[in-house]
Amino acid sequence: RFISLEGGEGVGKSTQARRLADALRTRGLDVLLTREPGGSPGAEAIRSLLLEGDANRWSPGAEALLFAAARADHVTRTIDPALSEGQWVICDRFLDSSRAYQGMAGGVGDAAIQNLHQIGSDGRLPDRTLVLALTDTDAAARADARDAGCPDRIGGRASDFHAEVAQAFRDFARDDPERIRLVDASGSEGEVTERLLAALADLLP
Ligand code: C5P
Repeated sequence: RFISLEGGEGVGKSTQARRLADALRTRGLDVLLTREPGGSPGAEAIRSLLLEGDANRWSPGAEALLFAAARADHVTRTIDPALSEGQWVICDRFLDSSRAYQGMAGGVGDAAIQNLHQIGSDGRLPDRTLVLALTDTDAAARADARDAGCPDRIGGRASDFHAEVAQAFRDFARDDPERIRLVDASGSEGEVTERLLAALADLLP
């Protein structure tokens, strides 16, 4: 099975990706935990291009192309081979991040992002996409705490950009409720992991 984990800044996504992978391994599943942008040597090289420098280094269109190229390499070299071997793949960000960040908040548009994904990755979709969601205020507070002393791309982006990203994820979940599930990211780490597992219950063996 192929699971993607999504969400805006400060929702605890990477921590939960690790916790979810551990929880599935405890259930006896063979799990590959990977992340986007990255997850293959070529895609990691593109990741450096994307994450070094300030948030405005690339135009939204160039950024969308780079993310699509990184994803194409990641799908071909890492995700598809793992799925063929029967592994569960948990991917920290995937297509829906590009739809939200570059497509909606960046203004590239959803159709263009989907086209790039079709060209690069044959339209590959996760079996389930779990979107960690907090209220905007909670998310900003958590992101501020995390980024104190460790500025990254989000430092260069206005808070309305992040609100647009959060709204985009909510819209995607509304439009495709079978694949995309919103999961409440508030509460303890353990509580959030339990909610993620509950949102996968119908896929678990
Ligand atoms: O997953 P993580 O939060 O570490 O993502 C790294 C950075 O890349 C974040 O600042 C996120 O905003 C950005 N990003 C993006 N577009 C994507 C995926 C991630 O701008 N499609």
